Amino acid sequence: MSQIELGYTADYHVHLRQGEMMELVTPTVREGGVSIAYIMPNLTPPLTDIERAVQYKNDLQKLAPKTTFLLTFYLSKLLTPEIVAKAADEGVIRGIKCYPAGVTTNSQAGVDPNDFTAFYPIFKVMQEKGLVLNLHGEKPSVHNESGDAGEDIHVLNAEPKFLPALFKLHKDFPELKIVLEHCTSKAAIDAIYEINKDLKEGEEPKVVASITAHHLYLTIDDWAGNPVNFCKPVAKLPEDRRSLLNAAVSGKPFFFFGSDSAPHDLSKKSTHIGVCAGVYTQQYAIAYVAEIFDKIGKIEMLKDFVSTFGNAFYNMDESKLVCKDKCVLVKQDVEIPEIMTFDASNLKIAPFRPVEKLSWSTKWV
Ligand SMILES: [Zn+2]
Repeated sequence: MSQIELGYTADYHVHLRQGEMMELVTPTVREGGVSIAYIMPNLTPPLTDIERAVQYKNDLQKLAPKTTFLLTFYLSKLLTPEIVAKAADEGVIRGIKCYPAGVTTNSQAGVDPNDFTAFYPIFKVMQEKGLVLNLHGEKPSVHNESGDAGEDIHVLNAEPKFLPALFKLHKDFPELKIVLEHCTSKAAIDAIYEINKDLKEGEEPKVVASITAHHLYLTIDDWAGNPVNFCKPVAKLPEDRRSLLNAAVSGKPFFFFGSDSAPHDLSKKSTHIGVCAGVYTQQYAIAYVAEIFDKIGKIEMLKDFVSTFGNAFYNMDESKLVCKDKCVLVKQDVEIPEIMTFDASNLKIAPFRPVEKLSWSTKWV
């Protein structure tokens, strides 16, 4: 097989930033083989109003006229049920992203994941309007000076510790569509299977998980000492990676692609103090996933993962696209540069898997 038609490929977790960085990375969505991009709202300040969301989408559309952008609000106390209802009715946003306070880039304005009840009026509106709740599923770190080790929360168990909150949310809002974003642990994969255990063939899942390209490759050994591979949630143990990979190729509609590609200028990655979390994969997004699916002999499962399942969950169809080009995966080598530089800017980005060769590329038909 030297060519595979992937349809309307979608990346349901994308960071395009603002200003100069936005101008540089927005066109790379299409270069990376993605037609539909679901955009994260952790801007400065966070995206919480209709006017700015409309403006941001217009800015992105100008930079990439053939990419279909879906926007999200940032869950915060600035949102009201009225704003959310209006934004849903006007088609401004497709979902709302929930960040626990302080766990990753620009999440200082986030919520306390120990108690979501303050946001229940908003979740009620979201459920009624069919908006998607996108969860960054980590508890903030807690290190006690004394007491039970079971109470400690750190980067390795922050995701498993969050899972009871996911079950509770699903119980309280059984019709609310929820995505556990960029899941990284076997515990998270098992939780999604558990929630969907009674799902019948052809039935639409309510609670799903997105999986990144880089977490299909990385384990803890790859980021300890390597800032390019450092992201939140951090990559976990080999058994966790196996679990993610199995889920990605499982053909289950509750696992699909969201790259969480998160560009930072090289100066924020190559510093001895305060290295930024985030892996940049956008430019080769589909190719990275294809490479690892192919490696384990599952390339035929790629279309479901990067196209069919996510689009079904988000109710995306051809009529909602700004461009109806389809993505085709082509057996053609591409070499990833060590550093991405740009003619019009001094910014530099360190891509995932620098100077390595991928054996798949994408084109549009
Ligand atoms: Zn993200």
